[in-house]
Amino acid sequence: MNFEAKKLILDKIKEYDKIIIFRHKRPDGDAVGSTKGMREILRLTFPEKDIRLINCDYSDYVSFLGDEDGAVEDSFYTDALALILDTATSDRISNQKYTLCREKIKFDHHINLEHYGDYEWVEEERSSVCEMVADFYRTFSDELKINKEAATYIYAGMVTDSGRFRFRSVSGETLRLAGMLLDMGVDLDTLHAHLYMKEFHTLKFQAYVYEKMQISENGVAYLHVTKEMQDAFSLSSEEASASVSYMESIKNSLIWIAFIDNDDGSIRVRLRSRFVTVNSIAEKYNGGGHACACGATVYTTDEMMALISDADVLLKDYKENNEGWL
Ligand code: AMP
Repeated sequence: MNFEAKKLILDKIKEYDKIIIFRHKRPDGDAVGSTKGMREILRLTFPEKDIRLINCDYSDYVSFLGDEDGAVEDSFYTDALALILDTATSDRISNQKYTLCREKIKFDHHINLEHYGDYEWVEEERSSVCEMVADFYRTFSDELKINKEAATYIYAGMVTDSGRFRFRSVSGETLRLAGMLLDMGVDLDTLHAHLYMKEFHTLKFQAYVYEKMQISENGVAYLHVTKEMQDAFSLSSEEASASVSYMESIKNSLIWIAFIDNDDGSIRVRLRSRFVTVNSIAEKYNGGGHACACGATVYTTDEMMALISDADVLLKDYKENNEGWL
């Protein structure tokens, strides 16, 4: 699929001596895994090139995968190629100095809302960008080099962004590519322990979420993780945000939403769904993302209630006009 787009990216990589890799803000496993995996593949294959991974924020969740590279002078950017992974819109790129780069490549699997690259390879139906990195490697495996470390980074993004290979975006290709990486020696015991073991206080918070979550008339489960709750359970904003996944297995509740108070007074919205697509709601409230996993920002409780009401209407309509959901 999209051989021409992939070939063009490889040709551009070959053309440049300096390459800077970028990802989105508030990185998840896919953003970190794909960029680290790509850096490793390119460093192994092109040892003569200067390849950096430079971003401006950090995530505890996947910090076990290791460090990125430090800041460089602006002059380093001006004759470099920007390789921007897993980022739908330019405002979400963590390091805004990408604009200084001579040419930019968008390499993504989100709904393609903005064509900010000079070149792009976007496949919206892919379960993760890591799946695309694995495919990129496989397409040019006679030229590109990979090792166990790179395979582990890429596999980490694949397993996290696909909800452990459960989401509908998972295809036969996803599993074939994951299989290729496993054959390179990924240590699943250690990787899964890093990704899925929880702290004691996090489990206590999870129990509290089950007490506090609410459900709308037509089955939208939701929770407001207030600043007070975050303080009471000593939660980092990442831990508070993870609460959305605690509501994912409620029968007949096809949409679930976590509202997380930010330090600046705004409220982060994390929307998830099965069967029904919800990205139109995220887009209405300053956000975007995937059909069944997206995010937005609201600024008042009234806006939060309006979003819940919109989701409730959407779900009512879906249930009335579709069968087979649960
Ligand atoms: P999250 O709930 O933050 O994990 O986001 C789910 C998906 O939606 C990710 O692919 C994000 O990149 C995307 N997303 C989250 N928030 C926004 C936003 N405010 N604008 C656009 N996309 C977003």
